[in-house]
Amino acid sequence: MKIVFLGTGGTYPSKLRNVTSIAVQRPGEVVMFDCGEGTQRQLMRSSVSFMRIKKIFISHLHADHFLGLPGLIQSMSLNGREDDLLIFGPKGTASNVRAMLSLGYFKSGFRVAVCDVKPGTKLDFDGYSVRCVQADHSIPALAFALEEGPRPGRFDLRKAKRLKIPEGPLYRRLQEGKMVKLDGRTITPKMVLGRPRPGRKIVYSGDTKPSRRIVELARNADVLIHDCTLDSSKKGLAANFGHSTAAGAAAMAKAAMAKALFLVHMSPRYEDVSVLEEEAGKIFKGAIVAKDLMEYVVKYRE
Ligand SMILES: [Zn+2]
Ligand SMILES: [Zn+2]
Repeated sequence: MKIVFLGTGGTYPSKLRNVTSIAVQRPGEVVMFDCGEGTQRQLMRSSVSFMRIKKIFISHLHADHFLGLPGLIQSMSLNGREDDLLIFGPKGTASNVRAMLSLGYFKSGFRVAVCDVKPGTKLDFDGYSVRCVQADHSIPALAFALEEGPRPGRFDLRKAKRLKIPEGPLYRRLQEGKMVKLDGRTITPKMVLGRPRPGRKIVYSGDTKPSRRIVELARNADVLIHDCTLDSSKKGLAANFGHSTAAGAAAMAKAAMAKALFLVHMSPRYEDVSVLEEEAGKIFKGAIVAKDLMEYVVKYRE
């Protein structure tokens, strides 16, 4: 699973950053989080194929998080897309997206299904789920956790030998979680595999003040991608507009015991983001201010 930071800036685009959008490359599809203006151009500059995007999660209906949808959908249609596109977001997303798609003379050549989701919803997909919780922003907003299901445990060679299973294709079938028949015996994966191993977990806060709900959502996450609009000298301003400081974001990652922290949605006022990275790094070692088009491969823990 690979994360591609398509845009990392907050509020409006700057010379250095497009507005925040995150693509997660999974086997056979791309899952996208937020899609502000200009995101389709960032996609073209990145390693992500925009035709492979199957689902888009919108954190909230501020322009810097959704205004890129109509242009992206038109380009997909002009490129002959036939696959459905699923869009999820907080209350009001479906009516807003429908209104955007009715602008001008355009009719999508593929089905766009839009769904408002309530905080607390868990959406199950093939091999993973996306949990949505309420973020603490100035308007209804969601934070998302993409979590893979558990993987089969490690193959125990000693147990396999003891059961006299011949090396080869039977090993592979058992490792894949399938039962096998051997000399009239039924051998189940459980007989040769260790305990199931956890899948990977990525959490995206969207725009938010530090929130206990997001700490819970991000518990033991492999990656937390968090709002970091300002530095602590502007703490009051951040709170007034429903945003986090670098220190606030780092405290979230620490409390959640996340493995890695990427900071996004930096205010366009920061050309030099070292103040943010240093501030966060004092609380959460190794915190990274994400850059546009940066990529990060999320590895299995075991
Ligand atoms: Zn924003
Ligand atoms: Zn916002």
